[in-house]
Amino acid sequence: MPQIYSAPRVLENVSLKPFNTFGIDVSARYFVEINHLQEYVQLVREQNYAHVTHLFVGGGSNLLLTQDVDALVVKVAFEGIEVIDESDDFVLVKAGAGVVWHDFVQYTVDHHWAGLENLSLIPGHVGAAPMQNIGAYGVEIKDTFDSLEALNLESLAVERFDTKACQFGYRESYFKHAGKGRYLIASVSFKLAKKAETQTSYGAIKDVLAAKGIANPGIRDVANAVISIRQSKLPDPKEIGNSGSFFKNPTVSVDEATRLQDAFPGIPFYPIVGSTDVKFPAGWFIEQAGWKGYRSGDAGVHVNQALVLVNYGQATGSQIKELSEQIKASVLAKFGVPLETEVNII
Ligand SMILES: Cc1cc2nc3c(=O)[nH]c(=O)nc-3n(C[C@H](O)[C@H](O)[C@H](O)COP(=O)(O)OP(=O)(O)OC[C@H]3O[C@@H](n4cnc5c(N)ncnc54)[C@H](O)[C@@H]3O)c2cc1C
Repeated sequence: MPQIYSAPRVLENVSLKPFNTFGIDVSARYFVEINHLQEYVQLVREQNYAHVTHLFVGGGSNLLLTQDVDALVVKVAFEGIEVIDESDDFVLVKAGAGVVWHDFVQYTVDHHWAGLENLSLIPGHVGAAPMQNIGAYGVEIKDTFDSLEALNLESLAVERFDTKACQFGYRESYFKHAGKGRYLIASVSFKLAKKAETQTSYGAIKDVLAAKGIANPGIRDVANAVISIRQSKLPDPKEIGNSGSFFKNPTVSVDEATRLQDAFPGIPFYPIVGSTDVKFPAGWFIEQAGWKGYRSGDAGVHVNQALVLVNYGQATGSQIKELSEQIKASVLAKFGVPLETEVNII
């Protein structure tokens, strides 16, 4: 007999402080936690919350809440990891949107499935990972992504999106543009290799492995190296409110890159594989413009990571947004480079 789902209880005026890693204390007019997609479908069919927008949240690690949220905030908590298919070489593994991303990555590493190990310790949940094609240490999810299932909020049909349909780019996807506000991502599937080829060329991974005397690293070694680098470099949101990189690294044409290199000798840059465009670290511009370690009230720029804006305790979302706008204006004035915000501002 098919299981019957009923709409879960919706709460009113709920503080969102525990649900965003910036630790901003605003409230949601309505709040509901959904453990199964059909619970949400039932809720929508009942039409009681059709008069407000619905804002989906996972771990709240890529959100800046600037005001009370006049919406139904839906905490997506679909659990479950399942193998869909496998061969001698690959495994196709699917995870529910509410699975904690780092737990999922560690599950794949424990099973010796390669491809996600460089993405260890990125905060948040599986369902949000495709939103901005999360990436770190030379890897993005698009490299091993197979497909996702998402609920079309208008038709209430579940649709399948493959890599092409997701239109992944650098911290970009279809769901941040034409698909924005139109889908609830329910699960994500990855095609992972059983015969590991590790990617160790990026950042400090090589140095950490060399320091440990590991010449032929396995995927667990790479995951552990990434975890230790991230722990030493990035502020833990449990200790200080933040959303990781606040801005994207600017990508510019080769002509613009030449202008910057001539004007600012020694400026660091990254060539982009398969493109003539050049990427520059946003943190360098922010640091050179004198913002690193800046603090105004409880809103600030991290003392070691200029790309990370922080809440020392009681900052409001508007104060952090205002600071981000001051930084953008100052970088534009000094370098002629517009910075783009990575964090979703609500
Ligand atoms: C310390 C720190 C380090 C970080 N490092 C990295 C990094 O290295 N690389 C990187 O790419 N990111 C990084 N991030 C950013 C963040 O962790 C990722 O963007 C993550 O994928 C966000 O997941 P979340 O579940 O917290 O999303 P949330 O913040 O809850 O939501 C983000 C967006 O997705 C939408 N959304 C969430 N779930 C769903 C769903 N199921 N269906 C539809 N829409 C949904 C939300 O409405 C919102 O617009 C970092 C953040 C922190 C705090």
